[in-house]
Amino acid sequence: MRLCSVLLICFLVAIAAFAQSAPAKPGLGFSIDNIDKTVDPCVDFYQYACGNWLKKTDIPPDQTRWLSFVELDQRNEEIMRGILEKASAGGPGRDAIDQRIGDYYASCMDEKAAATKGLDPLKPELSRIARVSDKTALIDAIARVHLIGPNPLFNFYSQPDLHNAGQVIAYIDQGGLTLPDRDYYLKDDPKMTETRKHFVEYVTQVFTLAGQTPQQAADSAQTVLRIETALAKASMDRTVRRDPKTRDHKMTRDQAAGLAPNFYLTRYFAEVNAPSFSELNVSNPDFFKQVNGLLDSESLDALKTYVSWHLFDNTAPWLSQPFVDANFKMRQALTGQAEIKPRWKRCVNATDDALGEALGQRYVEVTFGAEGKQRMLKMVAALESSLDEDIGGLSWMGDETKKQAKIKLEAIGNKIGYPDVWRDYRSLKIVRGDLVGNLLRANEFEAHRQIAKIDKPLDRKEWGMTPPTVNAYYSPPRNEIVFPAGILQPPFFDKTMDDAVNFGGIGIVIGHELTHGFDDQGRKYDPQGNLRDWWTAEDGKEFEKRVSCIADEYSNFVAVDDLKLNGRLTLGENTADNGGARIALAALRKMIAQDSSGKAGEKIDGYTPEQRFFLGFGRVWCQKQRPEEARRRVTIDPHSPGKYRINGVVQNMPEFQQAWGCKAGQPMVGENACRVW
Ligand SMILES: [Zn+2]
Repeated sequence: MRLCSVLLICFLVAIAAFAQSAPAKPGLGFSIDNIDKTVDPCVDFYQYACGNWLKKTDIPPDQTRWLSFVELDQRNEEIMRGILEKASAGGPGRDAIDQRIGDYYASCMDEKAAATKGLDPLKPELSRIARVSDKTALIDAIARVHLIGPNPLFNFYSQPDLHNAGQVIAYIDQGGLTLPDRDYYLKDDPKMTETRKHFVEYVTQVFTLAGQTPQQAADSAQTVLRIETALAKASMDRTVRRDPKTRDHKMTRDQAAGLAPNFYLTRYFAEVNAPSFSELNVSNPDFFKQVNGLLDSESLDALKTYVSWHLFDNTAPWLSQPFVDANFKMRQALTGQAEIKPRWKRCVNATDDALGEALGQRYVEVTFGAEGKQRMLKMVAALESSLDEDIGGLSWMGDETKKQAKIKLEAIGNKIGYPDVWRDYRSLKIVRGDLVGNLLRANEFEAHRQIAKIDKPLDRKEWGMTPPTVNAYYSPPRNEIVFPAGILQPPFFDKTMDDAVNFGGIGIVIGHELTHGFDDQGRKYDPQGNLRDWWTAEDGKEFEKRVSCIADEYSNFVAVDDLKLNGRLTLGENTADNGGARIALAALRKMIAQDSSGKAGEKIDGYTPEQRFFLGFGRVWCQKQRPEEARRRVTIDPHSPGKYRINGVVQNMPEFQQAWGCKAGQPMVGENACRVW
């Protein structure tokens, strides 16, 4: 049960700071060489800031898109590779952490062993499913599969109580799909129809490899598609789910069990060894009601085929080569990725997934300095004070709501670099030479860790991302912003650069995460992380009017071909981008005004500090992506593509127009500029 972090609002999807022993590679940081001076910044700022970068950049064959985040991922992968190769070589000084991460990585790299073993490592789990002889016992097999990795049929996880965020409770939720979203099953346009064709081929191929006749395998694929289509129909739309109120359905254990008797939930909870909780949240009760009927109408054999499929799909990347190839072909259809990543990269990421806080411990030892944390804390304080002033000056918000907003801002916590307390992996057994066994045991370790949190106070020290991750997040129930070591390096933060460029980079990231506390989702949570309305009715209406402006603006942007962005799906992120840029610029202005030497206000490379701020912002989002990937992201990603993360924001900023001397009527001067924060 790899748990979806449904409550983390990340800086980008999906998944080395102040580098000391690992200096930044040339090209990664900010450079005016990326600018295309033949373009007018007031006509297309993204093209101006990124034009030369776009000309000289190709997406590497093993990537689906290319931008600063992925460039940094790549560099982090190399650092982690060094750590893991040393740890796997053994030798004197190897401690328990080195043993665990080194042996996990070594097992993963052993391609020969994987080829020899073929499907053997999965056989005990497959026979467990095959032995099920009635529908009541099927839930035991599903419970077992949930513990060791994939999530057929539904999701079970622990999260803070929506109304008492200091306490963790159990959740059951919709789930059970292989493809990225319900739209992939339900939409009839040519692209989605083609993807379903690829999916049926993929399932057929895997069942054939597993020993079924071509006819049996083709039937199995139809069964999987039929069941998943029914699950998709019962699932709530991604955009609707953004409103936490649609997922707020607390009930007793008996009520949940009675809602969908064919799930045998009481038996399931016992089987996964959940504590004896009395209440839980059912995020989408309609899903359980509808799928209850499906469990009646589908045969036991069909359901067993479906559950086995999830086990195959989940482990295919780690079985013998034909399984790996079949799995990659599906990924290719979804993302356009030309080549599979080299095995070492896949194994670095697998080790980060399984043992992220053990590998992360070694990672911060070689990359993260104390000086980094201090400078970052200073910037966070500057951005917080900037947002506080912004709230104070809002013309559309009344004093009562302002007071509440400031209390919430004051309560936002922050985490920088890496956790104070590292996860304890001592009960997780890693065996050299047993790749699939290690993977399943690591999943099981994580599932039990999540389940053990149920009905306990929230662990406030816990992190939702591993230290090497190039990303950041705001968590509404925890009311905190988090910046892993991985993002605290160029082009986001570069200690060799002027403040203007850094405020345009990591400054906007900090502002973005802070603003999430006050976007269309975040504003529904109070300072303690509870779902509680602290707005006056009038101010709430004003807010909705202002975010609608942003939703309409972004709904007009074309992502790929004729496919436009979903302005409601991306609303929270776009609101955070706009607010983040505005408060980061205000913080920079304040810093320049306070600099008595006058040095901070000087031009560099011919650009004013404000111009460099926007160029730094642009650098972060210079981006290329494959058309398939662009299409996939429009469906599932709450973030806009790089071009609109830049142009969508600057069009709303009179400060941008002043900085670049733009005139009314030019494309980067929004006619009806939107502003929330
Ligand atoms: Zn975000």
